[in-house]
Amino acid sequence: MGIALIWCLALIFIKWITSKRRGAISYDSSDQTALYIRMLGDVRVRSRAGFETERRGSHPYIDFRIFHSNSEIEVSVSARNVRRLLSFQRYLRSSRFFRGITVPNSSNILDDDYNGQAKCMLEKVGNWNFDIFLFDRLTNGNSLVSLTFHLFNLHGLIEHFQLDTMKLRRFLVMVQEDYHSQNPYHNAVHAADVTQAMHCYLKEPKLSKSLTPWDVLLSLIAAATHDLDHPGVNQPFLIKTNHYLATLYKNTSVLENHHWRSAVGLLRESGLFAHMSLENRQLMESQIGDLILATDISQQNEYLSMFRSHLDRGDLCLENANHRHFILQMALKCADICNPCRTWELSKQWSEKVTEEFFHQGDIEKKYHLGVSPLCDRQTETIANIQIGFMTYLVEPLFGEWARFSNTRLSQTMLGHLGLNKASWKGVQREQSGSGDDVDPTFEEMDSDILPQEPRLS
Ligand SMILES: [Zn+2]
Repeated sequence: MGIALIWCLALIFIKWITSKRRGAISYDSSDQTALYIRMLGDVRVRSRAGFETERRGSHPYIDFRIFHSNSEIEVSVSARNVRRLLSFQRYLRSSRFFRGITVPNSSNILDDDYNGQAKCMLEKVGNWNFDIFLFDRLTNGNSLVSLTFHLFNLHGLIEHFQLDTMKLRRFLVMVQEDYHSQNPYHNAVHAADVTQAMHCYLKEPKLSKSLTPWDVLLSLIAAATHDLDHPGVNQPFLIKTNHYLATLYKNTSVLENHHWRSAVGLLRESGLFAHMSLENRQLMESQIGDLILATDISQQNEYLSMFRSHLDRGDLCLENANHRHFILQMALKCADICNPCRTWELSKQWSEKVTEEFFHQGDIEKKYHLGVSPLCDRQTETIANIQIGFMTYLVEPLFGEWARFSNTRLSQTMLGHLGLNKASWKGVQREQSGSGDDVDPTFEEMDSDILPQEPRLS
């Protein structure tokens, strides 16, 4: 009887927990499977190679057991149950549902950790030479929360959309936490950098005079969430390791779809827009998706030729909401790969970080005999070669068109840095190889499936 009662209470408790969790997200949408997987947890990056995190279970789960022999995989039923139980407990312990009740300190980050220098920096948040690395240090690793909250305020979004500032901060903290700080490149600092760049583009005269508060709201949310829960490996890696996300999204824009659905999950969980009509919330989710999906670098040619055609015809009309949203897609694409357009000091740091992430993937691929992806082999690639190829085939064409659309001082500054940075990498390349004319051919294979998702540095 005693045991039965305990089980009964346990079941009621679990049912209550899951119903509360489900209460935070809607299950009436067609993409519920994606959200369901996202929200249930235990999808963390975990490997025998050693990178396991104790963060909330929101990471795309990469099961390295598939690379081991059957005997190694065999786990007894009881052991598996214990692990499941532990996983569940860990999940409950770290669940935001509980933390939301007991730990309100997420809302105090700005007040607690703010210091004079960070505040000073925010006064120049619209400067192209804004040093996001310094800002991240000054805010104690909270650059994404601090910067995005500040921009919401600056653009008058809190007032316009009557946002609850507690919910907004909690949402931003959740976003920041769902980036993987152990990724050298695809972490919350990259998201903060992209958000800052997006802000610079939104201020450009052509855009600022035609954008609505709704457009600005979507742009900032999409920029802040565009790489949410990025696992630090690219799409080809997920496909060749039979990752469930590759299956779920049919090997198409796998990461971008996951970033979008993760963002939607957090928007719903935070209740930030619960006061809006369902119709508006659905519109917001879908438009954020359009923006995030545009950052898939394998689609760059399509977006670029559309952009070019519009510019050739001169028919872009920013009174037209569809045209505005297309331009915002292009702006987010620019923001995502703008690293080579920053000053050399900033640009070089980004180059080193993205290469470190590529090479880390290559190391895993070598270790498990998966075939090393292009640009990921530390024995044959160099930062300089990768950067020159990236700039030549992806960044220059995109920013060239952007400058045609918005021929401003900022565009000229960006192109100026791009030219100088490319020359600097060519200098490095000459020192290393003695030739100086090696451009990585990988970037020419834009239509190939093997293009890593993130030479985009995205
Ligand atoms: Zn990115």
